[in-house]
Amino acid sequence: MARKCLIIGNWKMYKTGKEAKDFFATFLPLLKKEAPSVACAVPFTAIQSAENPTVLIGAQNMHDAEEGAFTGEISAKMLKDAGAEFVILGHSERRTLFHESNEFIQRKVERAVKAGIRVVLCVGETLQEREKGLTEKVLTTQLKECLHGISSLDLIDIAYEPMWAIGTGKTATPEIAQAAHQHCRSVIGSESTRILYGGSVKLDSIRSLIAQKDIDGALVGGASLDPAGFAELVNHIIGIKS
Ligand code: PEP
Repeated sequence: MARKCLIIGNWKMYKTGKEAKDFFATFLPLLKKEAPSVACAVPFTAIQSAENPTVLIGAQNMHDAEEGAFTGEISAKMLKDAGAEFVILGHSERRTLFHESNEFIQRKVERAVKAGIRVVLCVGETLQEREKGLTEKVLTTQLKECLHGISSLDLIDIAYEPMWAIGTGKTATPEIAQAAHQHCRSVIGSESTRILYGGSVKLDSIRSLIAQKDIDGALVGGASLDPAGFAELVNHIIGIKS
């Protein structure tokens, strides 16, 4: 089944609204017509300024409650109102720095889907887990628990992001990534769901990763912040997957 390739930039806690506007003013003219679909997960405060005709704009997190006394949090409804079309949930920085559990992430997934926002659900093992041979077990648990009770995957993309590869400069080999993606696909039991790879993706690694059968795109952190570099990376994979 043909899955449409998607490249998502995760800006993390970088760029103001004005910087987002400047980014797209440079980035959009550099994108080739044949380039795959592109999205950027931007800080909440840049969602509205980032709006543009070509690149989907999303957020990097949200709370699981519909509304309430949760100082400093943001809801699915607020994201939608601001113009976000998707949200990243379960990113490893949320799991490790903010101690988010699979159960909490599952409630967020449920809430986002209910609000009609697409979800990019991140899963991935630590280096220690990989070295102990626990990668498949960890991925199975994360996927099963975070997607528990979610009846349709129509609004969901998965991102396999080995924790040891995020922001470290270490990229998984195409073979390691493909094996993990294949495993994720067998757990979710869906041929139509996109599974993106994330973890220090750069110009020199993206083509061989994207060429793998079960890798449908990439989630790119650091390398998505510079408009010329990100455009080069996206244009670099033209012709590999539709
Ligand atoms: C990420 O933040 O999801 C990510 C993959 O970061 P980096 O590309 O910088 O490793």
